[in-house]
Amino acid sequence: MGQRSGRQKRSKKLEPVLSETMMTEAEVRNDKEEVKEMKTKDQRLTSVFGVADLKNGAIGLYNIGQSCCLNSVLQVFLMNTHFTGILRRITVPPYPAQQKNDVPYQMLLLLEEMQCGKQKAVSPIALACCLSVYRVKLFVQHDAAHLFLTLWNLIKRQMKKPELVEELNDLYTICVQEHLACQKCSFETKRNSSMLTLPLPLLDSNSHMLKTLEACLQYFFLPEELTDHNMCFCEQCGRKTPFLQSMKLVHLPQTLTIHLKRFSFEKSAYIHKLSHYLPFSEDLDFNAILTENQCQADDKEKAAWQYELFAVVAHSGSTSCGHYCAYIRSLTECKWYCFNDSEVCKVSWDDVKCTYGHSKLHWGETAYLLIYMKKHPQ
Ligand code: ZN
Repeated sequence: MGQRSGRQKRSKKLEPVLSETMMTEAEVRNDKEEVKEMKTKDQRLTSVFGVADLKNGAIGLYNIGQSCCLNSVLQVFLMNTHFTGILRRITVPPYPAQQKNDVPYQMLLLLEEMQCGKQKAVSPIALACCLSVYRVKLFVQHDAAHLFLTLWNLIKRQMKKPELVEELNDLYTICVQEHLACQKCSFETKRNSSMLTLPLPLLDSNSHMLKTLEACLQYFFLPEELTDHNMCFCEQCGRKTPFLQSMKLVHLPQTLTIHLKRFSFEKSAYIHKLSHYLPFSEDLDFNAILTENQCQADDKEKAAWQYELFAVVAHSGSTSCGHYCAYIRSLTECKWYCFNDSEVCKVSWDDVKCTYGHSKLHWGETAYLLIYMKKHPQ
């Protein structure tokens, strides 16, 4: 076996970390008052909006104190009818104490409360408390990419029926094949692996900004030479040699989550946000993006690599002080909504495009997670 070098999978893929700011008690109290205030404001807004606009399940979630990230990620899960189709078939835990700590069950309760249609927004407090049992802190600004993975893993772990776990896997899992080839002999190793998001760097190895989503995807699948201190041990050569590392796409799921790595450690000890302009389109065809060499799939699999944008989780503000909201295209109505905590409103594609970013607007809104749906499910 070619021994992998000590570094993480790819040097160009920096890990996203957001500093977690714990709220002081005073701030929590202020937030509670704010929620109260918001509720009365929302009641007023209901009459302005008209209930008819919100009848199709586009229901807001109250901010219970720095919960905009949780709210946005939850909306992306719960507006996905493929996901709720699985969630509705879970086994309900028999005892109240178990129900209280069961993430899928609490999500289902929240979904049902949202869909009973009597309120403009509901509170995610029961689910948030349930998550805090599993170290997902309350009143803390989370990182949406990290929170998505945590939630997904908790849901998967707590779903009792094997067939539902399999369906959940099928719905979200991306399969790739990693290749390592010695550049001195013919020795090559292959390894299948899976992931839940495509974590795309926004800068190339020379720290140049990549111009489009397609360019980020192409860069992600670009082979990389492992030389100098990144060399691997080749069994055949009996020493450390330069290797070529590449990744081939094997399978894409129905719900594809793309993580734009806008939080970067590069060039400074502090995490900073990359706010530059990065356009993405409503349609995405992986056959047009990747070369034949970057794919390890048959024609039937590749024919299904046509995607349509379903949701954008957007972040505004800085790394230490920011706000999340979610733009989601209702699968039943095919219309875009903006979910900003308890505020839900219809928006246009042009509004969604405002999340492309702007290098001069560091406080501006930028897309952070892009969730695409297969156009023709297999
Ligand atoms: Zn070799």
